[in-house]
Amino acid sequence: MKAKKSLGQNFLIDKNIIKKITNIINIENKIILEIGPGTGNLTSEILKRKPKKFYVIEKDNNLVSLLSNKFQKNLSIIHKDVLKFDEKFLSPEKIIVFGNLPYNISTEILCKWILNLKDEFFWFESLILMFQKEVADRIISKFNSKNYGRLSILANWKLNVKKICDIKPECFFPKPKVQSTLLFFSPKTSYFRIKDPKNLEKITRIFFNQRRKMIKKPFNQIFKGNIEICNKINLNLELRPQNLNFETYYKLTKEFENLIS
Ligand code: SAH
Repeated sequence: MKAKKSLGQNFLIDKNIIKKITNIINIENKIILEIGPGTGNLTSEILKRKPKKFYVIEKDNNLVSLLSNKFQKNLSIIHKDVLKFDEKFLSPEKIIVFGNLPYNISTEILCKWILNLKDEFFWFESLILMFQKEVADRIISKFNSKNYGRLSILANWKLNVKKICDIKPECFFPKPKVQSTLLFFSPKTSYFRIKDPKNLEKITRIFFNQRRKMIKKPFNQIFKGNIEICNKINLNLELRPQNLNFETYYKLTKEFENLIS
């Protein structure tokens, strides 16, 4: 079957990597969701570990028929666009999510899940996801580094993020032009309270709009030069966006929420 570039199809073919991915966490008797199973290479390895229930979401018509022939009753195939699907109500039990994500929409998928985490409820127990290395580097970076930005601030809000390993282009077919990285996410037990994650998205968007400039301008744009807020959260307006740690962005979001409530 010809791989479709438009759907980010780079199928995992390296058996050792596939084994390594399925060995990260206990699968037996768990509820599993795989995003973009493709031709089912990772899927078959997951099946061998005897999940209690196994869902896959695949958008490609041809792949959906291939998968339903190959796996028949063992798999619940959801023929949908993952960006338009609400995973929250898939199972009353927490889900383990695997995904060698289509790279053109990988950040969109992750951001969708993060922005949906509005209350105390986590629908997943962990996320084991493949990104292109460059994107993974942004997700795992800490403040004062060049890759630090919106994606790291959003991801680290409610999730622990751990890098598992880098994966070479040779492990896929067709071979992608870039390196890949496997990340592991799990819910944090305590995190900063924000009413609506969309506000965090908004604050980080405005602050990182001009990465190299001092934060004075975005701060004034949102808080109309309110010095009390600066003092309260110990903010130095001469710093650049990348010099503020996670906590400061969460605090800024809370102040913003107070302002608009
Ligand atoms: N997991 C497989 C394939 C990864 S390639 C493997 O490791 O071999 C990415 C997969 O995501 C492809 O199967 C592609 O068809 C699917 N895909 C792309 N965009 C999608 C979307 N919006 N919703 C669901 N699946 C999508």
